[in-house]
Amino acid sequence: MRPRPVKNGTASAEALYATHSSTTNEPGLLKRRRTSWLCPTELDRARVVDANVRVRNLRMISLGAAVVALLVSAPWQGWTYPILALPVAITFGAVDLTIRRVQRPELISAGAMLITLGVLAGGVAINGGSRSPALPWLVLPLGATAARFRPQVVIAGLALTVVAILAATFGVDTTQAADHPVAVIATLGLLVSFVSIIWAIQSAELHHRDAAVLDPLTALLNRSSLMSRFREIASQAHLTRRPVCLLMCDIDAFKEINDSYGHDRGDAVLQEISYQLRKQLRSFELIYRLGGEEFLVVLPGVGQRRGQEIAERIRASISEMRPTGLRVTISIGVAVAVGEEVAFDPLFKAADNALYEAKHEGGNAVVTASALPEISRRA
Ligand code: GH3
Ligand code: MG
Ligand code: MG
Repeated sequence: MRPRPVKNGTASAEALYATHSSTTNEPGLLKRRRTSWLCPTELDRARVVDANVRVRNLRMISLGAAVVALLVSAPWQGWTYPILALPVAITFGAVDLTIRRVQRPELISAGAMLITLGVLAGGVAINGGSRSPALPWLVLPLGATAARFRPQVVIAGLALTVVAILAATFGVDTTQAADHPVAVIATLGLLVSFVSIIWAIQSAELHHRDAAVLDPLTALLNRSSLMSRFREIASQAHLTRRPVCLLMCDIDAFKEINDSYGHDRGDAVLQEISYQLRKQLRSFELIYRLGGEEFLVVLPGVGQRRGQEIAERIRASISEMRPTGLRVTISIGVAVAVGEEVAFDPLFKAADNALYEAKHEGGNAVVTASALPEISRRA
């Protein structure tokens, strides 16, 4: 599948990061960081974790308000609902404790939504079905989750919630629900409007966030998002003692393209090459445009041999393509650090020095920093 082409700087992050998600044949890495339908890209996954952290306090307020309302209503509607709030609170607490540590946080988040929906629907079913005053609470689980998932997942969540509402009402007592359908209809309407509002707010927020971290010309990540992401990758590498590989890429003689064919043609070349670079990588392999015609690829869990292979594959693919009809080549410096040694400055310096060597060899080349301590001494 060819994602939306990178033209005029309008390509979305979704389109770019959707490439090479789950179709790759490299089993080692996939085992560690598998993509999924819930989160096909690393960007989607980061959003799940980030949204959870951001809404934690507000969710506590929302849960607290629900518990107070249920406790105050208990003399009229019984103690089942306040008691059911307990497993819901435990579920949310477990999400907060685990979401940053697991490989697939989206499963934790979606699982919590399903458990909460199941508990609430069960409570409604055994407490009057369509006559249960707690019926409108069934919109809450999806409301709390909608802000962190992509549209397809929210639509699936919406369908599931509709099924849960119908099962807890019509499924329990069809005649009663058919005689008194008003609360069911109102809850379905509330569900759609609630989720639509959250969706609208989320789209606006994502648009602003994308603008802050994406390079407008190429839609690759920009330098400003690099350091915070690298800190996370480094601390994971320290824990797991796994390697991190950097590929420092620089287009050869790019100034000549600008000088000979004009700046606009140069921009178009940058866009086509960026798209090609992204295509060569899988969704959780990160690529940043550092500025000008320089790109940094960050490969968590990739050692020296794999890093060289990936760099060579990138170099060869760029030399074969003809961006805007021109022959363009790229040079790449490769550097790897393992476990505790993973730190941005020495690794970046080593990759940059290796790139310098590649340029020195005439360009269109891949050079690997031989040993990081040696390079660091040289620096
Ligand atoms: P080398 O092979 O040593 O890398 O040489 P080079 O010409 O690629 O590198 P140099 O640093 O001399 O020139 C980079 C050029 O990239 C100069 C600058 O005008 C151009 N450039 C930087 N950003 C952009 C951009 O956004 N669009 C265009 N069209 N050109 C850009
Ligand atoms: Mg260059
Ligand atoms: Mg350069």
